[in-house]
Amino acid sequence: MKKILVIGGGFSGLASALGAARRLDELGISSSNISITIINLDGWHSIRVRNYEPDITNARVSLAKILSSLRINLIIGDVNDVDLKHHSVTVSTPKGIQTLKYDRIILALGSILNRPQIYGLFEHGFSIDTWNEAAAFGKHLDGLKKQQEASGKSTVLIVGAGLTGIELACEMPERLRALGIRNGHIILADSNSHVGADMGEEAQSIILEALSSLGIEVLTDIQISSIDNNGAILNDGTRIDAKTVVWTAGMSANPLVLGLPVNHDDRGRVIVNAEMQVIDCSRASRRRTLQRYVLPTCATNGSFCRT
Ligand SMILES: Cc1cc2nc3c(=O)[nH]c(=O)nc-3n(C[C@H](O)[C@H](O)[C@H](O)COP(=O)(O)OP(=O)(O)OC[C@H]3O[C@@H](n4cnc5c(N)ncnc54)[C@H](O)[C@@H]3O)c2cc1C
Repeated sequence: MKKILVIGGGFSGLASALGAARRLDELGISSSNISITIINLDGWHSIRVRNYEPDITNARVSLAKILSSLRINLIIGDVNDVDLKHHSVTVSTPKGIQTLKYDRIILALGSILNRPQIYGLFEHGFSIDTWNEAAAFGKHLDGLKKQQEASGKSTVLIVGAGLTGIELACEMPERLRALGIRNGHIILADSNSHVGADMGEEAQSIILEALSSLGIEVLTDIQISSIDNNGAILNDGTRIDAKTVVWTAGMSANPLVLGLPVNHDDRGRVIVNAEMQVIDCSRASRRRTLQRYVLPTCATNGSFCRT
């Protein structure tokens, strides 16, 4: 039997597995001839794009439920190693370590939030990168309304003015109001000289207008030096009192992808061809396409390795 392994049950992994299942059905190939298995860290298909919302109850869906009537197997586990040479992966599952062989592999591990070595960031900084982190952030906000008035109670400092930071900042005034927290003060800060740096110059004025209409303060060209449970200190010594500091500053490819012996771009994403296949640069003279596929957000197809 041939085996297709899909690592990651997010948008990319799920869509790939469903696409493969549909195609095999169209070709009349049964699951006893070709199997499809998704391996995911937990039992959830997380809709990460909704993690900034006030109620994220439905922002994750049971993978077992989605896959129950399909020909796709599910393994819940943490893939620790992908051996491209021997076509095998090592997975830590609740039942122990498993080694699984594959004929085709799809790497759909997604991205992770960059967390630089800033004092206090891990302990005191919130994030909405994963469902669990977004849930912890929501719980913290709920707890704020019970806290006594204190400097920084109504201040939310969001560090990282990319898409996620802007989206969250725009949501916060209403979210604080709904919690009964008056005089909410939202600060969107970035080390860049302007917000939404990835979105092009034309977007700047529109973003700034939207932020201003919501009363969001924008701080650019700043560097955070430390974070504590009452706020943050900037590199120039300025202190910002804020009971809530959220880190949304930049993404990297999944560390597992970074460790693969293939070509990466400067953000750690694997370089692939237009079909999202990895090019095997070690056999440069024959430029061979490997039987593995890497999907956004851990891949880029802007460039090919040179022969
Ligand atoms: C708050 C927020 C808002 C966003 N808004 C937008 C938006 O408006 N538009 C947009 O295009 N994008 C947006 N994004 C980005 C978008 O969520 C991602 O691009 C998208 O989720 C990528 O899908 P994916 O399947 O590649 O990765 P993911 O959705 O991250 O899925 C990866 C999966 O791999 C699993 N996994 C990871 N490591 C392992 C391992 N070692 N072993 C087993 N399984 C593993 C994870 O559990 C996860 O299920 C947003 C992201 C956030 C956080």
